[in-house]
Amino acid sequence: MNAFFVRTFTYPLYELVTGRRVLGKVRQLEKTQWLTPERAAALQWEKLKALLEHAFKNVAFYRRRFDEAGITPNDINSFQDLVALPPLTRQDLRLHRDELIASNYPGSRLHLNATGGSTGEPTTFYNDRDDLDYRSAVVLRDYRWAGLQLGDTHAMLWGAAFDLSRYDSLKGRLTNFLLNRHVLQAFDMSEARLGLYLRELFRLKPRLLTGYTSTLDLLARYITHRGIELAPAGLRGVVSSAETLRPDQRAAIQHAFACPVFDRYGSREVGCIAHECEQHRLHINSENIYVEVLHGVQPAPPGAYGELALTALNNYGFPFIRYLIGDAGSLSRQACPCGRGLPVLAGLLGRLLDILVTPDGRFLPGEFFPHLFKEVTGIERFQVVQKAPDSILIRIQPGPEYHAASLDYVLAKTHQFMGEAVQLQVELVKEFALLPSGKLRSTVSEIKIDFSRLH
Ligand SMILES: [Zn+2]
Repeated sequence: MNAFFVRTFTYPLYELVTGRRVLGKVRQLEKTQWLTPERAAALQWEKLKALLEHAFKNVAFYRRRFDEAGITPNDINSFQDLVALPPLTRQDLRLHRDELIASNYPGSRLHLNATGGSTGEPTTFYNDRDDLDYRSAVVLRDYRWAGLQLGDTHAMLWGAAFDLSRYDSLKGRLTNFLLNRHVLQAFDMSEARLGLYLRELFRLKPRLLTGYTSTLDLLARYITHRGIELAPAGLRGVVSSAETLRPDQRAAIQHAFACPVFDRYGSREVGCIAHECEQHRLHINSENIYVEVLHGVQPAPPGAYGELALTALNNYGFPFIRYLIGDAGSLSRQACPCGRGLPVLAGLLGRLLDILVTPDGRFLPGEFFPHLFKEVTGIERFQVVQKAPDSILIRIQPGPEYHAASLDYVLAKTHQFMGEAVQLQVELVKEFALLPSGKLRSTVSEIKIDFSRLH
């Protein structure tokens, strides 16, 4: 579809029909990205202060937190003062989910969401409609940095939602059609399918390709080994997301697709946290997220590396304030030559998920299991270890709501995607031994993948 037609006709039509309000926010964000760092911080402070007052007044969980700390929002008069309010943990989400809902928000404006957790802790939470609109707007603004104008053809190598109703699946397809997005299923990457996807990319001629890091890397290595020239496809950029982008992966993707690679850092809970600009610095979407770097409960010294705590500035229905996401990084002290005033995240250490192979030689991104586990309840933590192409060990730490049906679902879906030949072994564990960082790698492969086999 023509980009101009999408921008002026189908996207406004989509907003009219669905009641979403994204385009106005994109226009706003296009302006605020050019604010000076001081003015961007001032805008963020106003939003943060308003959110704290709302949470104190309308959210039982935070009211209690403020009371226990012996403070009110009036005691928080600078970003530094925020440290007086204890951080929000994944465990808080699990134990107090309903108390985190704002009492002045009608349920109809809340959207139930879930994450499998790259560190293996499935969690559910809510996003309000305004927050979802903000999240979409931020992503559309950031895609422009990677060369995609609103309405341009966009190809995505992405995971499937499991068990969509026919209505939802039709709705999703219609939305993608109206917004000129083309989704290529990333949970079934056979060699034949890699070839098929390439033909699709030649046919679609997308301006932008986004995908899971490991899947893009796989497709890139396939292209390189086959000696395929992709230049005529007219691709402006590739956006890598959901997993940490290693330098060797960036180089492989850039070489194969003959265009720049842009890293994106995001999460299901708060959306896109940071995105690379044309200068390949990772700018925080500070109109939507406030990022703190912590050493224990104290702020890390300026520029130092530490644990990230995130505050979502527009999710009033279910506020995430000082949320410990489980990743680490630092805030750069240098301004970016691109001229944007949005702060820059440096030295990010995010998710490390291994790619899996199936007995019949297909590949599955490490995202598969976090994606699957978010569908089931009663599991505190999980870890999946691939021992051999036909052998997977699924380790589960059950929670109080655990029931055998959850496990049956996981096993059935794993067989469906990996093939019946795969042997699944389940081990229930009392507690996982965590990495020194407090994390657990949720998807681990003990197989060395030989990419040179692809030819
Ligand atoms: Zn920049």
